[in-house]
Amino acid sequence: MSDKEFDLIIIGGGPGGYVAAIRAAQLEMKVLLIDDRQADDGKPAPGGTCLNVGCVPSKALLDSSKHYHHVQHDYAAHGISVDGVSMDVGTMIERKRKVVKQLNGGLLQLFKANKIEFANGRGKLLADREVEITPCEGETYRARGKHVILAAGSVPFTIPNVEIDGEHIVDNVGALEFDAVPERMGVIGAGVIGLEMGSVWKRLGSEMVLFEAMDELLPVVDKDMSRAAAREFKKQGLDIRLGTKVAGAEVTDGKVKVTFTEGDEEKTDTFDKLLVAVGRRAASDELLAEDSGVELTERGQVKVDEHCRTSVSRVWAIGDLVRGPMLAHKASEEGVAVVETIAGQHGHINLDHVPWVIYTDPEIAWVGKTEKELSEDGVEYKAGSFPFAATGRGLAMGEAAGHVKILADAETDRILGAQIIGPSASEMIAEIVVAMEFAGASEDLARIIHAHPTLSEAIHEAALAVEKRAIHKAN
Ligand code: FAD
Ligand code: NAD
Repeated sequence: MSDKEFDLIIIGGGPGGYVAAIRAAQLEMKVLLIDDRQADDGKPAPGGTCLNVGCVPSKALLDSSKHYHHVQHDYAAHGISVDGVSMDVGTMIERKRKVVKQLNGGLLQLFKANKIEFANGRGKLLADREVEITPCEGETYRARGKHVILAAGSVPFTIPNVEIDGEHIVDNVGALEFDAVPERMGVIGAGVIGLEMGSVWKRLGSEMVLFEAMDELLPVVDKDMSRAAAREFKKQGLDIRLGTKVAGAEVTDGKVKVTFTEGDEEKTDTFDKLLVAVGRRAASDELLAEDSGVELTERGQVKVDEHCRTSVSRVWAIGDLVRGPMLAHKASEEGVAVVETIAGQHGHINLDHVPWVIYTDPEIAWVGKTEKELSEDGVEYKAGSFPFAATGRGLAMGEAAGHVKILADAETDRILGAQIIGPSASEMIAEIVVAMEFAGASEDLARIIHAHPTLSEAIHEAALAVEKRAIHKAN
């Protein structure tokens, strides 16, 4: 028997769950949002992986470390000399914590303002849309929702023979909290987290080695992009060892000895810290009672259709817990779409147009199909690209590495995909996402007036280059 009834119960208060809760409250639903995360001081810490140990703190450290790197390496070219530059890791980490804490507090205020009931504790889905809530403090109770959204997110994958101890061998959580710059740091996985967190600690002074099992860096983007990225990372001193598979790691005398295979050879290397960043899996353990009726995939994701419906009527699932890219904005938009569908509106999410960004320097961003995917699908396409080195703004800023590439259908000219490597790629990709959502053609981007001098002129020129009529480069 449930103690309470709600229009909607949401398990998980990350960018999927909390955004869904706010949208539901706007649509006058009575909402219970359950999230188990607490800060070090025991206060609730809503916002999920993204806010607490993911997107936000990693970007805070990426920004801090970028400032430090610029002062040391790039100011001289502008005629600015700075003597005696020093850096305090403690202050940097504290600034990051403050940013997170401020946003945690902001969310709690938003829940209050929207009259969302927030429970800091664990939720478990039982049969018939009943949820058992075990608060961090207090008695376990039950509630029933007319609808339930599962938004429990994801947790890091582990690998055999590499045990996370939180001190020498860490996952994303530990890599955001070092109290000193490791002299020599290893990373297993040159994926998104490996490249971002590897960049942070490299910029702050670590010798950085990344072990990557695949023979190719970033196979999710086209070769011209990944080659350009590899070139820049090499210049920065990131030692990315492709085709190396880590077999194990052990801690002795405060050092981590990593055993890995390179080709047929077994080798070892030693580090002060080792980050394990080999992907993430859905956090479906202990979320569902045996009789909940919710089906999982072989990989432990909650099985959903294109509208995020699970196998149980009026139980929905979103974000990292389900198929599709593990990205905060994808989770949030799924949350909004589900709630609007529940409210009888036309909730909609287009997984084909979800932008990706890797916040390295240069940034890497993409949306839609790559050349590789279009070729595999047998789609005829035209490509136009343009380098930042040929833009006035890029050169004036001293950030001219990288390029924009736009892919358009050979017959209809509709934009099918785009990739950007370069300064502010994270912001610029939005223009192309908008164009794609409006079913735009490369011609549309080519005809839109872009301010001069801006980085966005590289998008304009890449669109012109699709028809071989870029102005500031030979076509
Ligand atoms: P989560 O954010 O994981 O939230 C789920 C919440 O539910 C968590 O607080 C969890 O503790 C809680 N929970 C789980 N089970 C229960 C339960 N039974 N009861 C109560 N609560 C429960 N994505 C981007 O788009 N941009 C980025 O820049 C970016 N950077 C990242 C950097 C790092 C280091 C990491 C690890 C991830 C990053 N991501 C980024 C990915 C992003 O964090 C996730 O895609 C996003 O958080 C998924 O949102 P979600 O709501 O599905 O789940
Ligand atoms: P990832 O999938 O991006 O990269 C993992 C890498 O580890 C892969 O390249 C894989 O080949 C490699 N690998 C696996 N096992 C290995 C082994 N034994 N030895 C060597 N290499 C091995 O995963 P991640 O970096 O852990 O990030 C997880 C997810 O979090 C991302 O896919 C993304 O969805 C999300 N995320 C997003 C952002 C962003 O949007 N900027 C930032 C961080 C994380």
